[in-house]
Amino acid sequence: RRPDFADSAYRTFLDNPGARDIEPNDAINDKIALWQGDITTLEVDAIVNAANESLLGGGGVDGAIHSAAGHGLYQECKTLDGCKTGSAKLTGGHDLPAKHIIHAVGPIGYKPKLLGSCYWKSLQICDEHNLKEVAFCCISTGIFGFPNDAAAQIAMANVRQYLERPDTQIERVLFVMFLEKDKHIYREHIGRFFPPV
Ligand code: ADP
Repeated sequence: RRPDFADSAYRTFLDNPGARDIEPNDAINDKIALWQGDITTLEVDAIVNAANESLLGGGGVDGAIHSAAGHGLYQECKTLDGCKTGSAKLTGGHDLPAKHIIHAVGPIGYKPKLLGSCYWKSLQICDEHNLKEVAFCCISTGIFGFPNDAAAQIAMANVRQYLERPDTQIERVLFVMFLEKDKHIYREHIGRFFPPV
């Protein structure tokens, strides 16, 4: 099949996020923030969990979210029938200050397209449910072993590309770094994906 132009442009951007000049856009920059700390404490419309295909809880941020959200989250997750790698599903926030949780299943190891689609799908879920403020953890970069630097660039490339959609209602995207090394990586790259005007 011949890919159409939009498709191939998007793929080039994803495969090689640094290859394209990214135009400054103040309106998009105003929507972006970096935040270091525990994602379970954030009072936002949605936090994005780094889940596994079972959606029934795990280690790392998934474990932290399930402990903080309480047993009601586990009960709700049991009704979801799992989730495919590269996709995401929505639940309530239960005992969390966040209203909702988007459970994204990142790839195990270096699979850039599947990681990109976790971010893209999570943002689509936000628009489908009118969620305007969303916080992402660094999906796949813990137990799942995706290289941190590439993961950060894929995260920012996808968010930048998604926020260019004229129909998005998203007002704020937070990249949440838990580790010092991710903070340095995000700071190093953010100016390229969200260049100041
Ligand atoms: P994965 O299995 O997708 O790799 P992990 O939970 O092991 O998921 O790691 C994903 C990221 O979440 C890592 O950057 C890790 O440092 C971070 N993390 C762990 N606990 C928290 C937390 N409470 N809040 C935010 N990020 C966290």
